[in-house]
Amino acid sequence: MFTFHSIEDYQTALQRGSTSCFEAVEFYLNKIETARHLNAYTNVYAQEALIIAKKLDIQRKSGKPIGKLHGVVIGLKDVICYKDHPVSAASKSLQNFISIYNATVVDRLLREEAIIIGHQNCDEFAMGSTNENSVYGNVLNAIDNTRVPGGSSGGPAVAIQADLCMISLGSDTGGSVRQPADFCGIVGLKPTYGRISRHGLIAYASSFDQIGIFGKNVPDVALTLEVISGNDPFDATSSHTPVPEFRKLAKLANGDKTPTRRIAYFKEAIQHQSLDPEIKSAFLQFVDGLKLKGFTVEEIDFEYLEYVVPAYYILTTAEASSNLSRYDGVKYGYRSANSSNGLTEFYKKNRSDGFGKEVKRRILLGTFVLSAGYYDAYFTKAQQVRKILIDKTKLIFNNFDVILSPSSPTTAFKLGEKMDDPIAMYLADIYTVYANLVGIPGISVPLFQHTNGMPFGIQAMTNQFKELPLLQFSHYLMQQFKSYENPTL
Ligand code: GLN
Repeated sequence: MFTFHSIEDYQTALQRGSTSCFEAVEFYLNKIETARHLNAYTNVYAQEALIIAKKLDIQRKSGKPIGKLHGVVIGLKDVICYKDHPVSAASKSLQNFISIYNATVVDRLLREEAIIIGHQNCDEFAMGSTNENSVYGNVLNAIDNTRVPGGSSGGPAVAIQADLCMISLGSDTGGSVRQPADFCGIVGLKPTYGRISRHGLIAYASSFDQIGIFGKNVPDVALTLEVISGNDPFDATSSHTPVPEFRKLAKLANGDKTPTRRIAYFKEAIQHQSLDPEIKSAFLQFVDGLKLKGFTVEEIDFEYLEYVVPAYYILTTAEASSNLSRYDGVKYGYRSANSSNGLTEFYKKNRSDGFGKEVKRRILLGTFVLSAGYYDAYFTKAQQVRKILIDKTKLIFNNFDVILSPSSPTTAFKLGEKMDDPIAMYLADIYTVYANLVGIPGISVPLFQHTNGMPFGIQAMTNQFKELPLLQFSHYLMQQFKSYENPTL
């Protein structure tokens, strides 16, 4: 039977003729069918994926050199545009919308011969931490169906966790790749802001949004990053920084040679009252383990931790209120049947009917913090906090190569647990939003298991555009410290 361990193994098997792209796609289509109850996919492109697979098999057998992602079966979060396919941001306001162009990442995946198998469920407009804000309904955590997969990229995470594709692409504005990766026991990378083009990614908060990658292991994530990174004329914020050959990282990943020798963690993060005691003690033991292996690990002061969540929610909701103004029922978005009482009523009705509760809450909040009377008190203040955080981060990386923290203060929540308390839900983003505020890369590496049976990981962050040492270090951690076994990995 078909099994998938890594892209490298899979492509070796393809070259040897012991499997085919067609067999791989069939395998995943069957798995997706039997895992329907998890609700990970919003649309599956079965026939099309099979046809592409067949074509790739013929090309390969004819001796044509293969692309870097030849035959790799990939799912896309439902915020990434794939020409002539539906994309809805899991919102009623975009249901039945068909993409008229490819996101740049999709072009790059296809150019390297990946097979896109479907779109995956998420929180509406990527706003949430549990995938409970989706018009398509909840996604279930495959390890424990009474728990959430995390969010907002719940579908992409579960698709890897339950072996429903090889790689998923998500988006991470404040943790939406790292936190669900943590809750599901898989690898989740958010690259540096600007590393990957956002062209064709439905915007939530443009100065925070970044496409991220879910995989079973670090080398697969590294290879995908190599393919989708790099400057794009369609996104003025995408960087010209050269893209290293990330896929070669595995060969460099000997612990003694990782360039990340100087490690810091924030005292305030580890002493935080919201941190689960078991996660805290695992983290501290892990730090001791790193020291034993010769790393320098220091606890440092980070007196700004309490400000990161408020600053994040002020700035992202402000940006969201502007980004989402286009969904008015004229340019884009849901148009209500009965809305003939003048233009204001028309917009109001379309937007009231098209958006869910959390999206409306954020649009209201964002409009409020940008309003003339409150702009300086909230938006300007939060921008100042962001600047202070950026300056502080530069200083930290003068002395350290990597910052470590838990990825999330707890393991996966129970379904519904935080739905009536949005503030509690927001506060649980305490460890992830920092990387987006300052634009640095962060990865969640699945290492441990809680006594409640759920996985949890470590978050590692490096300076901007230092993904290579970040990936090398993460790969090393997976080899040296991983005590959690996900049945599908
Ligand atoms: N949980 C965060 C939020 O609700 C992160 C979302 C994201 O990264 N898209 O905003």
